[in-house]
Amino acid sequence: MAKVVIIGAGFAGHTAALYLGDALGEDHEITVVNKGTEFCYLPSLIWLGVGRMAPEKLVFPLAPVYERFGVRFVQGQVTEIHPADDYVVVRPVGEEATRRLDYDHLIVATGPHLDYAGTPGLGPDGGHTESVCWIDHATRCRDAYLERVERMEKGERIRFVIGSGHPMATCQGAAFEYLANVHHDLLRRKLRDRADLEWLSNEDAPGDFGVGGVQVKRRGRVVGSDTFMQAVFEDFGVTARSGCGVLGVDEKRIHWEDLDGVEGDTRYDFAMLIPRFLGPRIRWVGKEGEDLASRVVNPGGFVLVDAFYGLPYDRLVDTPEAWPATYQSPNFRNVFAPGIAFAPPGPISRPHVTPGGRQITATAPRTGMVSATIGRLVAMNVIGLVREGKMKHQARMTEMFAACVASVSDSLWSGSAVSVVVMPVVPNHMRYPKSGGRDPLSTHLESGLAGAWMKYTIHKTMLHKMKGRFGWKIIPE
Ligand SMILES: Cc1cc2nc3c(=O)[nH]c(=O)nc-3n(C[C@H](O)[C@H](O)[C@H](O)COP(=O)(O)OP(=O)(O)OC[C@H]3O[C@@H](n4cnc5c(N)ncnc54)[C@H](O)[C@@H]3O)c2cc1C
Repeated sequence: MAKVVIIGAGFAGHTAALYLGDALGEDHEITVVNKGTEFCYLPSLIWLGVGRMAPEKLVFPLAPVYERFGVRFVQGQVTEIHPADDYVVVRPVGEEATRRLDYDHLIVATGPHLDYAGTPGLGPDGGHTESVCWIDHATRCRDAYLERVERMEKGERIRFVIGSGHPMATCQGAAFEYLANVHHDLLRRKLRDRADLEWLSNEDAPGDFGVGGVQVKRRGRVVGSDTFMQAVFEDFGVTARSGCGVLGVDEKRIHWEDLDGVEGDTRYDFAMLIPRFLGPRIRWVGKEGEDLASRVVNPGGFVLVDAFYGLPYDRLVDTPEAWPATYQSPNFRNVFAPGIAFAPPGPISRPHVTPGGRQITATAPRTGMVSATIGRLVAMNVIGLVREGKMKHQARMTEMFAACVASVSDSLWSGSAVSVVVMPVVPNHMRYPKSGGRDPLSTHLESGLAGAWMKYTIHKTMLHKMKGRFGWKIIPE
């Protein structure tokens, strides 16, 4: 009987758990360890953050789903991984003692460590800014937002600053989506004229989103996502400041440095800034108790997999096969890392260094769709290893399609959304040399009501899939 341990029940880990449970649950031991008891559908946190969706609408308990799929569930935190001895150490919630879990195959799907501490004064826990990156933070963000709304109702003018909170932050799409929802919610409350809205981001241009921007053909003309986003910001009356790496936040001001090395600050009354993402805070321990981190993770703590690391950016963009295909650790071949936990071989967007030597770059996102797709791929390979001793599946982000729908408001009648479809996620200049590395037929950038329907439909269908309900397998990740 094979033992598979999955750390993390987010998009990547939970998807892997469903496929593994479905295929092997009856005859083998599949265990998921997750800090919380619920799956959380993170893309809808932006609606929670403006008070348009109740927290209970975007979560469901994991245990009953796992029971149906023959998957064991442990609520707890993995604190150590012993890859040379094939076990992890778990601190179960509510228990003093730690527990050892042995495995034949390990899937590290921990998502990001939200590194608020990487920017002094950032974040909801002891800092001055809000975040929509996790459910408790988004709930706090909603309360802070509604408090500002109350003040505006009494006649006060409020300055909202939304964007990224570190020179190397990612996930700008989520920040943009939050900004768009704040704009729309204030319009609906007839308070928009009492608000100044500012976009503050580390992208070199608006619409870069950490994927080097998107270029689409419209009526015979090539339109870039920078032009598109500038038009959206103008339409919303938003002041946009890109190319700014946030260095610190105090009670009134956000301090930043721009791409030219010029330092400045921005006053705020409410700020929602995405922190830098790091890899999981887990110790990698060797046979003699030694620290194995340098063999397993990069300096940011992301798990090294079957990628070519260390290529300079100009070579990386011409080497699609530098991106990983199986998400397998090269040093410990029974360890896999799908989703945000794996270390990309470099940024997708062109990196920038200021004259003073500071790196300001929107780092590579691994969105929910990509994370779940990789989660399924890893699960299929582990199933192959357990049944036949071999892996058959490969998919690189240079071949992978992704869609991201940034809602502007949740209404299905007057709502709207910016829909970005990229094929592939990481530009593949070998395959699409004439169109910036992307397939011109499948890459789209649209704005309109259809996107609002799509966002709502994705929310419903993804939750249906993640609950493992009827037909879950035919719903694409
Ligand atoms: C506000 C917001 C909006 C977004 N919108 C979109 C969108 O529209 N489209 C899209 O495709 N993507 C979107 N994303 C991105 C998407 O949510 C992430 O890409 C996705 O969640 C990554 O999946 P993951 O499984 O790698 O990590 P996660 O979903 O973060 O899951 C990781 C899990 O591991 C658990 N864990 C971590 N460490 C441990 C440990 N040591 N022990 C036990 N458990 C642990 C965590 O508690 C968590 O449950 C959005 C993200 C945010 C925050």
